[in-house]
Amino acid sequence: MEDYVRAAMAKGLRTIVFLEHLEAGISYGERTWLTEEDFAVYFEEGLRLRSIYADRLAILLGVEVGYNPLAVDILQDRLARHPWDRVGLSYHFFFDGRRHLNMVSRKRHNIDALAAIGPDTVVEHYFSQLISALDCFDNVTVLCHLDAVMRHSPSLRFNDSHWEQVERLLDIVRRKNISLEINTSGYALRNEPYPGRRIIRRAVELGIPLTAGSDAHHPEQVGRCFELLPAYLSDLRRADRPPSAE
Ligand SMILES: [Zn+2]
Repeated sequence: MEDYVRAAMAKGLRTIVFLEHLEAGISYGERTWLTEEDFAVYFEEGLRLRSIYADRLAILLGVEVGYNPLAVDILQDRLARHPWDRVGLSYHFFFDGRRHLNMVSRKRHNIDALAAIGPDTVVEHYFSQLISALDCFDNVTVLCHLDAVMRHSPSLRFNDSHWEQVERLLDIVRRKNISLEINTSGYALRNEPYPGRRIIRRAVELGIPLTAGSDAHHPEQVGRCFELLPAYLSDLRRADRPPSAE
């Protein structure tokens, strides 16, 4: 964590928000989230760093909670245990009745299994579950990497009913005063953030606040591509919106 803090200061950031993963009830080969014991250490170390670097960097301790429709009670209970500075919501794991498949993974076994289920079905499920998730948790402050579902399947296209789901999601986000993450890890894969410009433009139209996130999984990724965001957003506002945009 201290390496991330130093990286943030070297980048000239004034605030860093840690957003460690919380998942529950997921059966998956590797664990990419923190256990309750890990979170105890996370807060202990986070508070230590906060006091050391107080005059140079604001250090906030948040969480990215991954939705699991079969573990809502556990997730709510775990969320209630800590004083999070930010609560991000995402949905990563599709349950196929036997095991969980990671919908944002680049790993072949996930991509192939999700392709076999059918991209339209997976995307429909992803958005409908996120809509349910927003109902389950009262303390969400930001919706994370909204359109990153099946991001490693380049031929994926959202259909009209997916876009209607996005519209419903954004409406809920607006009504609940949640912000939308503009996640710059997308630049590496597709040269624009998650979510894409059609969604960001719509969020801006609806007055939904945007929160920059670099999805850093390594200190050198802290604040990656943040310098591109001002121009990206002003282009977005300037551009006329063709009826068939994207
Ligand atoms: Zn995520």
